[in-house]
Amino acid sequence: MRRFFVAGNWKMNLSRTGTRRLVEDLKARVGGEDRLDLAVAPPFVYLTEAVAAARGSNIKVAAQDVYCEEKGAFTGEISPGMLSDVGCTHVIVGHSERRHVIGETDDLIARKVKAALDAGLKVILCVGELLKEREAGKTNDVVNTQVVRGLFELSPEEMSNVVIAYEPVWAIGTGVTAKPGDANEVQGFIRTLLAEKFGGQLADDTTIQYGGSVKPENAGTLMGQPEVDGALVGGASLQADSFVDIIRNTAKAKKLG
Ligand code: PEP
Repeated sequence: MRRFFVAGNWKMNLSRTGTRRLVEDLKARVGGEDRLDLAVAPPFVYLTEAVAAARGSNIKVAAQDVYCEEKGAFTGEISPGMLSDVGCTHVIVGHSERRHVIGETDDLIARKVKAALDAGLKVILCVGELLKEREAGKTNDVVNTQVVRGLFELSPEEMSNVVIAYEPVWAIGTGVTAKPGDANEVQGFIRTLLAEKFGGQLADDTTIQYGGSVKPENAGTLMGQPEVDGALVGGASLQADSFVDIIRNTAKAKKLG
Protein backbone atom coordinates (compact mmCIF):
# COMPACT_ATOMS: atom_id res chain seq x y z
CA MET A 1 0.00 0.00 0.00
CA ARG A 2 1.21 3.47 -0.86
CA ARG A 3 2.62 5.52 2.02
CA PHE A 4 2.75 9.27 2.36
CA PHE A 5 5.98 11.02 3.25
CA VAL A 6 6.93 14.54 4.35
CA ALA A 7 10.65 15.25 4.59
CA GLY A 8 12.55 18.41 5.47
CA ASN A 9 15.71 19.21 3.54
CA TRP A 10 17.68 21.54 5.77
CA LYS A 11 20.42 22.08 3.19
CA MET A 12 23.45 23.97 4.58
CA ASN A 13 21.58 25.50 7.52
CA LEU A 14 21.32 25.36 11.32
CA SER A 15 23.92 24.62 13.96
CA ARG A 16 24.43 21.60 16.21
CA THR A 17 22.19 23.15 18.87
CA GLY A 18 19.67 24.36 16.29
CA THR A 19 19.46 20.86 14.82
CA ARG A 20 18.84 19.26 18.22
CA ARG A 21 16.23 21.85 19.20
CA LEU A 22 14.31 21.60 15.95
CA VAL A 23 14.18 17.79 16.09
CA GLU A 24 13.09 17.90 19.74
CA ASP A 25 10.41 20.43 18.91
CA LEU A 26 9.10 18.31 16.02
CA LYS A 27 9.22 15.18 18.16
CA ALA A 28 6.98 16.84 20.74
CA ARG A 29 4.43 17.96 18.16
CA VAL A 30 4.10 15.40 15.35
CA GLY A 31 4.01 11.70 14.68
CA GLY A 32 1.74 8.78 15.04
CA GLU A 33 -0.11 8.78 11.70
CA ASP A 34 -0.14 5.25 10.40
CA ARG A 35 0.64 5.87 6.73
CA LEU A 36 2.59 9.13 7.07
CA ASP A 37 6.38 8.91 7.24
CA LEU A 38 8.44 11.87 8.44
CA ALA A 39 12.11 12.66 7.96
CA VAL A 40 14.59 15.47 8.38
CA ALA A 41 17.81 15.87 6.43
CA PRO A 42 20.40 17.93 8.32
CA PRO A 43 23.96 18.54 7.11
CA PHE A 44 26.28 15.51 7.43
CA VAL A 45 28.04 16.83 10.53
CA TYR A 46 24.77 17.07 12.47
CA LEU A 47 23.35 13.67 11.53
CA THR A 48 24.35 12.06 14.83
CA GLU A 49 22.81 14.96 16.76
CA ALA A 50 19.55 14.55 14.83
CA VAL A 51 19.53 10.77 15.25
CA ALA A 52 20.03 11.11 19.02
CA ALA A 53 17.31 13.75 19.31
CA ALA A 54 14.84 11.74 17.19
CA ARG A 55 15.28 8.55 19.21
CA GLY A 56 11.95 7.25 20.51
CA SER A 57 9.95 9.03 17.80
CA ASN A 58 8.97 8.06 14.26
CA ILE A 59 11.06 10.88 12.77
CA LYS A 60 13.64 9.38 10.42
CA VAL A 61 16.95 10.99 9.63
CA ALA A 62 18.10 11.37 6.04
CA ALA A 63 21.39 12.52 4.56
CA GLN A 64 21.36 15.12 1.80
CA ASP A 65 23.78 13.22 -0.39
CA VAL A 66 26.06 10.17 -0.42
CA TYR A 67 28.99 8.88 -2.43
CA CYS A 68 28.75 5.82 -4.66
CA GLU A 69 31.66 3.86 -3.13
CA GLU A 70 31.88 2.18 0.26
CA LYS A 71 35.41 3.21 1.19
CA GLY A 72 38.73 4.36 -0.19
CA ALA A 73 40.56 7.40 -1.47
CA PHE A 74 37.61 9.74 -2.03
CA THR A 75 38.57 12.78 -0.01
CA GLY A 76 35.63 14.61 1.47
CA GLU A 77 33.03 12.00 0.55
CA ILE A 78 30.72 10.00 2.82
CA SER A 79 29.81 6.38 2.08
CA PRO A 80 26.39 4.72 2.34
CA GLY A 81 27.67 2.40 5.07
CA MET A 82 28.83 5.39 7.12
CA LEU A 83 25.34 6.87 6.93
CA SER A 84 23.76 3.61 8.12
CA ASP A 85 26.39 3.38 10.81
CA VAL A 86 25.29 6.68 12.39
CA GLY A 87 21.60 5.78 12.24
CA CYS A 88 20.51 7.38 8.99
CA THR A 89 17.77 5.46 7.23
CA HIS A 90 17.24 7.62 4.13
CA VAL A 91 19.32 9.62 1.70
CA ILE A 92 18.39 12.30 -0.81
CA VAL A 93 20.07 11.70 -4.17
CA GLY A 94 20.12 13.95 -7.22
CA HIS A 95 18.75 17.09 -5.58
CA SER A 96 18.61 19.92 -8.12
CA GLU A 97 21.35 21.78 -6.27
CA ARG A 98 23.59 18.73 -6.66
CA ARG A 99 22.66 18.42 -10.34
CA HIS A 100 22.81 22.10 -11.31
CA VAL A 101 25.14 23.78 -8.78
CA ILE A 102 27.61 20.95 -8.17
CA GLY A 103 27.22 19.41 -11.63
CA GLU A 104 26.24 15.81 -10.90
CA THR A 105 25.35 13.70 -13.92
CA ASP A 106 22.58 11.12 -14.30
CA ASP A 107 25.28 8.44 -14.41
CA LEU A 108 26.79 9.45 -11.06
CA ILE A 109 23.32 9.79 -9.56
CA ALA A 110 22.38 6.27 -10.69
CA ARG A 111 25.54 4.89 -9.09
CA LYS A 112 24.73 6.72 -5.85
CA VAL A 113 21.18 5.33 -5.86
CA LYS A 114 22.46 1.77 -6.30
CA ALA A 115 25.19 2.09 -3.68
CA ALA A 116 22.78 3.55 -1.14
CA LEU A 117 20.24 0.77 -1.72
CA ASP A 118 22.99 -1.88 -1.48
CA ALA A 119 23.80 -0.50 1.98
CA GLY A 120 20.18 -0.80 3.08
CA LEU A 121 19.29 2.89 2.87
CA LYS A 122 16.03 4.17 1.42
CA VAL A 123 16.56 6.66 -1.39
CA ILE A 124 14.70 9.86 -2.18
CA LEU A 125 15.55 10.49 -5.84
CA CYS A 126 14.89 14.07 -6.95
CA VAL A 127 13.91 14.83 -10.53
CA GLY A 128 12.62 17.99 -12.17
CA GLU A 129 12.93 20.36 -15.08
CA LEU A 130 14.50 23.82 -15.40
CA LEU A 131 12.28 26.78 -16.26
CA LYS A 132 13.60 26.95 -19.83
CA GLU A 133 12.86 23.25 -20.27
CA ARG A 134 9.27 23.72 -19.02
CA GLU A 135 8.81 26.72 -21.31
CA ALA A 136 10.10 24.68 -24.24
CA GLY A 137 7.52 21.96 -23.49
CA LYS A 138 10.25 19.50 -22.49
CA THR A 139 9.17 18.73 -18.92
CA ASN A 140 8.17 15.13 -19.58
CA ASP A 141 11.29 14.45 -21.68
CA VAL A 142 13.57 15.74 -18.92
CA VAL A 143 11.79 13.86 -16.17
CA ASN A 144 11.68 10.73 -18.32
CA THR A 145 15.45 10.84 -18.81
CA GLN A 146 16.14 11.41 -15.12
CA VAL A 147 13.80 8.60 -14.03
CA VAL A 148 15.04 6.12 -16.63
CA ARG A 149 18.74 6.84 -16.05
CA GLY A 150 18.37 7.04 -12.28
CA LEU A 151 16.24 3.98 -11.65
CA PHE A 152 15.75 1.63 -14.57
CA GLU A 153 18.74 -0.63 -13.80
CA LEU A 154 17.20 -1.46 -10.41
CA SER A 155 15.34 -4.65 -9.56
CA PRO A 156 11.71 -4.31 -8.45
CA GLU A 157 12.81 -5.13 -4.91
CA GLU A 158 15.38 -2.32 -4.97
CA MET A 159 12.81 0.03 -6.48
CA SER A 160 10.47 -0.64 -3.58
CA ASN A 161 12.95 1.23 -1.38
CA VAL A 162 12.93 4.34 -3.56
CA VAL A 163 10.80 7.45 -3.12
CA ILE A 164 10.73 9.95 -5.98
CA ALA A 165 10.57 13.69 -5.33
CA TYR A 166 9.30 15.68 -8.29
CA GLU A 167 10.87 19.11 -7.82
CA PRO A 168 10.58 21.57 -10.69
CA VAL A 169 13.84 23.49 -10.39
CA TRP A 170 12.16 26.86 -10.98
CA ALA A 171 9.98 26.27 -7.90
CA ILE A 172 12.77 25.47 -5.46
CA GLY A 173 13.46 28.29 -3.01
CA THR A 174 11.72 30.82 -5.26
CA GLY A 175 8.32 31.11 -3.59
CA VAL A 176 6.76 30.07 -6.91
CA THR A 177 4.92 26.78 -6.61
CA ALA A 178 3.83 24.50 -9.42
CA LYS A 179 0.09 24.63 -10.03
CA PRO A 180 -1.34 21.64 -8.16
CA GLY A 181 -2.82 20.26 -11.39
CA ASP A 182 0.54 20.56 -13.18
CA ALA A 183 2.38 18.78 -10.36
CA ASN A 184 -0.28 16.07 -10.42
CA GLU A 185 0.11 15.65 -14.17
CA VAL A 186 3.90 15.25 -14.09
CA GLN A 187 3.71 12.91 -11.12
CA GLY A 188 1.07 10.83 -12.93
CA PHE A 189 3.46 10.67 -15.89
CA ILE A 190 6.25 9.44 -13.60
CA ARG A 191 3.94 6.75 -12.25
CA THR A 192 3.14 5.66 -15.82
CA LEU A 193 6.86 5.27 -16.52
CA LEU A 194 7.26 3.17 -13.38
CA ALA A 195 4.28 1.01 -14.35
CA GLU A 196 5.76 0.30 -17.79
CA LYS A 197 9.08 -0.77 -16.29
CA PHE A 198 8.18 -2.31 -12.92
CA GLY A 199 4.49 -3.14 -13.23
CA GLY A 200 1.31 -1.44 -12.09
CA GLN A 201 1.36 -2.60 -8.49
CA LEU A 202 4.84 -1.34 -7.74
CA ALA A 203 4.10 1.93 -9.52
CA ASP A 204 0.94 2.34 -7.50
CA ASP A 205 2.78 1.64 -4.25
CA THR A 206 5.62 4.09 -4.97
CA THR A 207 5.59 7.32 -2.97
CA ILE A 208 6.05 10.38 -5.17
CA GLN A 209 6.61 13.63 -3.29
CA TYR A 210 6.28 17.14 -4.65
CA GLY A 211 8.93 19.71 -3.75
CA GLY A 212 9.25 23.40 -4.56
CA SER A 213 8.19 26.22 -2.23
CA VAL A 214 5.75 24.08 -0.23
CA LYS A 215 4.32 26.19 2.60
CA PRO A 216 1.51 25.67 5.12
CA GLU A 217 -0.78 27.79 2.89
CA ASN A 218 -0.37 25.67 -0.25
CA ALA A 219 0.32 22.25 1.27
CA GLY A 220 -3.34 21.26 1.58
CA THR A 221 -4.14 21.89 -2.10
CA LEU A 222 -0.95 20.29 -3.36
CA MET A 223 -1.29 17.25 -1.11
CA GLY A 224 -4.93 16.95 -2.09
CA GLN A 225 -3.81 15.87 -5.57
CA PRO A 226 -4.13 12.11 -6.04
CA GLU A 227 -0.62 11.66 -7.51
CA VAL A 228 1.08 13.77 -4.81
CA ASP A 229 2.03 11.57 -1.88
CA GLY A 230 3.79 14.07 0.34
CA ALA A 231 6.39 16.80 0.17
CA LEU A 232 10.09 17.43 0.19
CA VAL A 233 10.29 20.77 1.97
CA GLY A 234 13.25 23.14 2.02
CA GLY A 235 12.85 26.61 3.54
CA ALA A 236 9.61 25.97 5.40
CA SER A 237 11.10 22.95 7.18
CA LEU A 238 13.58 25.15 9.06
CA GLN A 239 10.93 26.42 11.48
CA ALA A 240 8.96 23.98 13.58
CA ASP A 241 5.71 25.94 13.23
CA SER A 242 5.62 25.92 9.43
CA PHE A 243 6.93 22.36 9.10
CA VAL A 244 4.39 21.05 11.62
CA ASP A 245 1.59 22.85 9.76
CA ILE A 246 2.69 21.28 6.47
CA ILE A 247 2.71 17.85 8.09
CA ARG A 248 -0.74 18.41 9.61
CA ASN A 249 -2.15 19.77 6.33
CA THR A 250 -0.78 16.72 4.53
CA ALA A 251 -2.41 14.37 7.03
CA LYS A 252 -5.69 16.25 6.64
CA ALA A 253 -5.53 16.25 2.82
CA LYS A 254 -4.87 12.51 2.81
CA LYS A 255 -7.63 11.96 5.37
CA LEU A 256 -5.27 10.38 7.87
CA GLY A 257 -7.22 11.64 10.84
C1 PEP B 1 14.17 21.59 -1.66
O1 PEP B 1 15.21 22.01 -1.24
O2 PEP B 1 14.07 20.41 -2.01
C2 PEP B 1 13.02 22.49 -1.74
C3 PEP B 1 11.92 22.04 -2.28
O3 PEP B 1 13.18 23.77 -1.23
P1 PEP B 1 12.03 24.88 -0.98
O4 PEP B 1 10.91 24.17 -0.25
O5 PEP B 1 12.68 25.92 -0.15
O6 PEP B 1 11.59 25.35 -2.31
